[in-house]
Amino acid sequence: MVALAVIVIGIAGFFVLAMRRAPLWQWAVGALILALISRISLDGGLWLVLLSPWTIVALVPAIVLGLLSVTAIRRVLVAAPAYGLVKSILPRVSRTEQEALDAGTVGWDAELFSGRPDWDKLLNIRKVTLTAEEQAFLDGPVNKVCSMIDDWDVRHNRADLSPEVWAYLKEQGFLGMLIGKEWGGLGFSAQAQSQVVSKVASRSVAAGITVMVPNSLGPGELLEKYGTPEQKEKYLARLAKGQEVPCFALTGPYAGSDAASMRDVGVVTYDMYQGKKTLGVKVSWDKRYITLAPVASLVGLAFHLHDPDHLIGDTENIGITLALIPADFPGVEIGRRHYPARAAFMNGPIKGRNVFIPMEFLIGGLDYVGQGWRMLMECLSTGRAISLPAIGTVSIKQSLRVTSAYARIRRQFGIPVGIMEGVAEPLSRLVRSAYTYEAARGLTASMVDEGQKPAVVSALLKYRTTEAMRDRVNDALDIHGGRAVQDGPSNYLFSGYMTTPVAITVEGANILTRTLITFAQGALRAHPYLYAEIAAAQDPDRRHGVAAFDEAFGGHVSFMLRNIAGSFLHAISGGRFASTPVQHEMARWYRAIARYSQSFALVGDWTVAFLGGDLKRKQRLSGRMADILSDLYLLSAVLKRYEDEGRVREDAPLIDAIAKDHLFAIEQSFAAVFANFPNPFLSWLMGVLVFPLGRHQRPASDRETYRFARSVMRPGVFRDRLTIGTYVTMDPKDVTGVLEDALIKVTRAEEVEAKFVRAIKKGVVERRLDRDAITDAVDAKVLTESEAAILRLADQATDRVIKVDDFDPDELAAKQLTRRPEPGRAAE
Ligand SMILES: Cc1cc2nc3c(=O)[nH]c(=O)nc-3n(C[C@H](O)[C@H](O)[C@H](O)COP(=O)(O)OP(=O)(O)OC[C@H]3O[C@@H](n4cnc5c(N)ncnc54)[C@H](O)[C@@H]3O)c2cc1C
Repeated sequence: MVALAVIVIGIAGFFVLAMRRAPLWQWAVGALILALISRISLDGGLWLVLLSPWTIVALVPAIVLGLLSVTAIRRVLVAAPAYGLVKSILPRVSRTEQEALDAGTVGWDAELFSGRPDWDKLLNIRKVTLTAEEQAFLDGPVNKVCSMIDDWDVRHNRADLSPEVWAYLKEQGFLGMLIGKEWGGLGFSAQAQSQVVSKVASRSVAAGITVMVPNSLGPGELLEKYGTPEQKEKYLARLAKGQEVPCFALTGPYAGSDAASMRDVGVVTYDMYQGKKTLGVKVSWDKRYITLAPVASLVGLAFHLHDPDHLIGDTENIGITLALIPADFPGVEIGRRHYPARAAFMNGPIKGRNVFIPMEFLIGGLDYVGQGWRMLMECLSTGRAISLPAIGTVSIKQSLRVTSAYARIRRQFGIPVGIMEGVAEPLSRLVRSAYTYEAARGLTASMVDEGQKPAVVSALLKYRTTEAMRDRVNDALDIHGGRAVQDGPSNYLFSGYMTTPVAITVEGANILTRTLITFAQGALRAHPYLYAEIAAAQDPDRRHGVAAFDEAFGGHVSFMLRNIAGSFLHAISGGRFASTPVQHEMARWYRAIARYSQSFALVGDWTVAFLGGDLKRKQRLSGRMADILSDLYLLSAVLKRYEDEGRVREDAPLIDAIAKDHLFAIEQSFAAVFANFPNPFLSWLMGVLVFPLGRHQRPASDRETYRFARSVMRPGVFRDRLTIGTYVTMDPKDVTGVLEDALIKVTRAEEVEAKFVRAIKKGVVERRLDRDAITDAVDAKVLTESEAAILRLADQATDRVIKVDDFDPDELAAKQLTRRPEPGRAAE
């Protein structure tokens, strides 16, 4: 009986102390109480009980814990030996990694890593808002340039934007949205930049990328942040007005994902410049894949700087340094084009051999030599949060916009194809993704506007949005059938399809972004203790290192104990007691995030602790952990969007379905982590702690998802809300306007059409090329004249929608590449 009581009290005590993250002395008191209870029923008087050897054994845990609660003793007995051990286990952080980690900030990602998200930190992030000026720009110049772009002409006839579009983009300041007003730039928020890029890309991906690049990682931002006053004076106003077209060259043939391994080099030396002996740098570089390079007038360049003669200081190998070089500077080889995914945006190589540049070309001058990597990473953590998520998200929204219309307009077997369950399935996926990724895009841009530099979030958002884009564009193509693959001026999907790999490849190819950056590096950055432990372990001053380690390690242990207790308790209670900031219909999803965040903290912690330095190699595990983190992030964004938009009732079932899908995916990823964890005992234990009662999440049902497909095929606020931020025109002569026009006409003709179809089925009228079936229907008194007019309008509009292009064979032959590159040129 006593034994049972001891076990029950012991377990209860463990959970209470672990959940409270009690300090060591409280654990000692707990152990003491437990020891005394275990001896209390013994006979023979107090002294006999106290002097019994078993009592002494029972007191050992309390004594040990008591001693360890004394800092000096703990440091000697635990922290110092653990320090040595951990030093050899923990992943080492290279200088470039360190700079990448230091460059970003943590926010909601750290809350999810903590296992106890503070909901205020999510809900207090500003709603998606634009200033009146930004909104006017979207409604004015952005709509105007969209109406000017003929994407077929761009990608097929010109392989470039038209001169009018280029001129308009430059003069309206599209290329200088991030440059401050004091320099004549638009000085737009991240939210506005994201929305401008989105809308332009919804019209033409090539145009979207052209606008995106100068406003992303590039000379403009680098100059704003680090430029000398002279450099700012010289370039910013010109960049703002498009008088300079910038590009930034980091990637080379041997330095892709591992860009810091570049072979490009600059040596500090004296040479002649403008007729005078001048201190400068002799640079040699070989860069490729550089967007805007073929038309750039100003080249941002990254290279390793060396100073063998100590002309600027004691250090020989100074490190990555950035320079700005005019494209027409002697020695700069520029102008040739790559042809990425046959898209029309400008992209090409840049080379230079022993090009002497004066010191004033270095961005930030001598103060910033050797700091190039940090500068790039700082810009990337914000740029990556804005640009590619904007393009990925809008591609999904645009795919939904056109596909929802097409699925309603296109009929087979007598009914709109979208009604068929097989078609409704991908259409419904488009609906869920459109809501989800717009929520995440908006939230992340708002974070940037609040001053965050979300390195982990930007990485996960980039890979999730661009992967979702790839899948949803495929869904759109599948639903369109042959209409989508017959390329030509009236094909509005194919260019997006062709360019999906571009967004996936740039700014760190997705495999790397998922498997390395999001979790393996993300854990270092966002974990509450790990980073401090590694920093302590790498501290050259051992005494100082042990002290710092002791503090972080103590916190880490109590963090781990709480995650063990919390994860198990949440699992057996189905998350009912997890925290939620709301008490309405969405409370259960907030609780689910809190529950799985605790499990994520536990499993993430053990994954890092067990794999240690192997973490960067065990990428299938870290990839799945990245998926869990990103599912938690996306669901958080969806709940916040629902809240920010005033809880639109019509959206509630959609949020439920999205939540179910994400929670199901989270459980699957956990299960895959456990099934593949290299240590069977830990794998079993994690399974017990996270799913003691098994896995119970189910994805959204066929019934609920079918409803979204039905709803989105009707013109109206639901469809508009889901496709917000895309360029929409009602012009029936426009490549996508034709769909909007037809959708309205077809919807208006719905009842008439039903009558007509019934008459066809009964054999009263017949659809034949040699007869006008609508006239026959009027003659047969199936339709009135006015009904026939409505149906005729719908029919004509449908004709325009389903039409595909055909060409004279010569027309196509003329568009083949006329000249093969000289053999060996690419390998030069
Ligand atoms: C259209 C386009 C435009 C671009 N614009 C610019 C630009 O303006 N400026 C610029 O400097 N660069 C630019 N880039 C370069 C771009 O950033 C690189 O292509 C990208 O970083 C990947 O390099 P890579 O293509 O050489 O792939 P590689 O590095 O050769 O990678 C091959 C594969 O291996 C994976 N991989 C590599 N290392 C790891 C790892 N440690 N763990 C897991 N997987 C890994 C990658 O994910 C990828 O799937 C552009 C690229 C393209 C295609």
